Amino acid sequence: MSEKKREWTWEADGMKVVRSIARSGPGCHQGCGVLVYVKNGKLVKVEGDPEFPSNQGRLCPRCLALTEVVYHPDRLKYPLRRAGERGEGKWERITWEEAYETIANRFNKIKTEYGPESVIFSNGTARDVIIYSARLAYTFGSPNRFGFLQGNACFIPKIATMAALFGDFAVADCAQFFPSRYEDPNWRVPSCIIIWGNEPTIASPDGFMGHWIIECIRRGSELIVVDPRRTWIATRAKEWLQIRPGTDAALALSMLNVIINENLYDEAFVEKWTHGFDELRQRVQEYPPEKVAKITWIPREQIIEAARMYATSKPATIQWGVAVEQSKECVATLHAITALWSVTGNMDVPGGNIIKSRLFDLGRLNRWGVETLTEEQKKKRIGLGLYPFPDWAGIIPRKPTIEQMLTGSPYPIRGAWIQGSNSFTCAAAFPKTVHEALRKLEFVVVVDLFMTPTAMALADIVLPAATYPERDGIAIAGGIGTYVGTINKAIEPVGECKSDMEINLELGKRLNPKAWPWKDIREMFSALIETTGMTFEELRDKGYAYDPLEYKKYEKGLLRQDRKPGFETPTGKVELYSTVLENCGLDPLPYFEEPPESPISTPEIAKEYPLVLTTGARTWGFFHSEHRQIPSLRRMNPDPLTEIHPETAEKLGINDGDWIYIESKYGRCKQKAKLTKGINPGVVHSQHGWWFPEKPGPEPSLFGVWESSINLLLPPGWTGRSGFGYPYKSQMCRVYRTEEAQNA
Ligand code: SF4
Repeated sequence: MSEKKREWTWEADGMKVVRSIARSGPGCHQGCGVLVYVKNGKLVKVEGDPEFPSNQGRLCPRCLALTEVVYHPDRLKYPLRRAGERGEGKWERITWEEAYETIANRFNKIKTEYGPESVIFSNGTARDVIIYSARLAYTFGSPNRFGFLQGNACFIPKIATMAALFGDFAVADCAQFFPSRYEDPNWRVPSCIIIWGNEPTIASPDGFMGHWIIECIRRGSELIVVDPRRTWIATRAKEWLQIRPGTDAALALSMLNVIINENLYDEAFVEKWTHGFDELRQRVQEYPPEKVAKITWIPREQIIEAARMYATSKPATIQWGVAVEQSKECVATLHAITALWSVTGNMDVPGGNIIKSRLFDLGRLNRWGVETLTEEQKKKRIGLGLYPFPDWAGIIPRKPTIEQMLTGSPYPIRGAWIQGSNSFTCAAAFPKTVHEALRKLEFVVVVDLFMTPTAMALADIVLPAATYPERDGIAIAGGIGTYVGTINKAIEPVGECKSDMEINLELGKRLNPKAWPWKDIREMFSALIETTGMTFEELRDKGYAYDPLEYKKYEKGLLRQDRKPGFETPTGKVELYSTVLENCGLDPLPYFEEPPESPISTPEIAKEYPLVLTTGARTWGFFHSEHRQIPSLRRMNPDPLTEIHPETAEKLGINDGDWIYIESKYGRCKQKAKLTKGINPGVVHSQHGWWFPEKPGPEPSLFGVWESSINLLLPPGWTGRSGFGYPYKSQMCRVYRTEEAQNA
């Protein structure tokens, strides 16, 4: 590992300055380097750390608003026990000791009566919290780690698909694996970057920062952007492909059609390192640009132009967002896009799509403690054997879990641990069923920063979590393990808040002391990062550490367990024709399938609900359902917004700023109309994750969670054949204005 000696704390202008790394809470995927300024024990301000390679001093508004989060009057400050009916909003303050004792007693009672699998453990997308939440589940004896996203449609399908196709996972190369970044002599600027279903400047997804793209543009990269919305990054693109939501696989297959038929692929790479090219060649003949233009609503010429531009630019890379996972048959979409960078020889080359080195094994961390589960307990995992794809992240499928909560079959679910997750508010499809199912449980614990609709509706015990300046921790960048560094405590927590890690360690000691042997969290962190050869304190004192990166690892025997050249797949090659998918009973080649409901697959539904609804794009001020109570961030986006093309709005008598109903076959909600020519007249986009902390908390209001939740429009079912994917991005809806909506 390469590392750099840096001071981690010093005095300046009468203030203590602490170098740290931003992690949850408040929530974020990334881990940007920050300088935290403290005066008289109070957090004064946060700045970006200019010496931290990943963000080089940049911070987005969410981090800059940190003082507002930490000192917000609504922060949870003490452990609470429910004192009235569930959802009534009556709480009594208890001590940590009482809280731990109650939780341990209730969970152990469920364990004795029904088995440890009857408690499910859920965490939000908060990256370092996941590690400890997983360990709590496994060491309690439960194989049931639960995510609230239908079809686990975020990041997990990508990892599983790439693992099947080439045995590892790859990311767009923006020099992020080098501490010296853009100056590193081994790196090359991508000549072309495809941004697919993503606005990285706002979202900074999975440890991939939007400003990296801007740095590449400055150095000469040209962009192709695939997005139904004209995002900021789309306005910088040479080609903006305004796609119909849910048709990404068709576009990728058509680009492959052009690249293969015009012999623009990398013959040498294809010949030596891929399996099944001829079968792929045959399959893509089904997707000529003229046909796919009708499917995707992208002009034929633009599909051809984009394919040629990508294939003839060397090197070229693809940065994809969560949108490509949020279709029903998302594995096929991911397969098609992966084939693009494989057949063009952009696999693991400087400026291409590079394979992350495995030294710091993220998979191991996400399943830390899984070895403590007995074989018998592993077999009790909900949904085991239901879907064919190999499990990667250890997250149980949502639909059978909800059904099991409601029916008690094949065994009852009685308890839940919900840590940093606003479960039915965020991106939970058919949320009222989720709400109903969770309310049936006999004992629920929620750990969070604020009283959320989830905590209000479900919790028997609420535990107040610390924000990142109030705690120590280990940060492993984003979802791709770019670096490892320490989160350094700068201030004492407000009230009696404790870090998630401390909470889990203390509770873990009560539930299974042998599995939590560490005397304190720093000792636990040192155990966690033992593969680096450093303790927590040594890592903190040395600064961040990077895995060394080598390109073309497949030539050097660096990807396979047996150290032979090639990829860790059954054929030793990148499997364009996937033997893994075939063995799972799935189509071994990529394909396109219409969304279950769309203007094409269900024209009868389209008569009544003529618009394609897409949802979930990120905003500057919010991270999913977080930050709605933070004044400076809420001012940026005071109301939930639905984007509509002005022509569509005019036909419907809708003005900019009107409250409108968005309605599907399954439900409706209310948002404000935002007119923009940046969206296709046949598509609307609605924001997700809305609730109103200023509205009454107790049931039935739950902070107004049912008023503007776009999840209410999403149907049950429809997970892909692989077990992954759900059409979050492509539903059918109608929108309308009523007088009642203006005042309600
Ligand atoms: S992406 Fe933004 S919110 Fe996340 S850590 Fe970086 S600056 Fe903070």
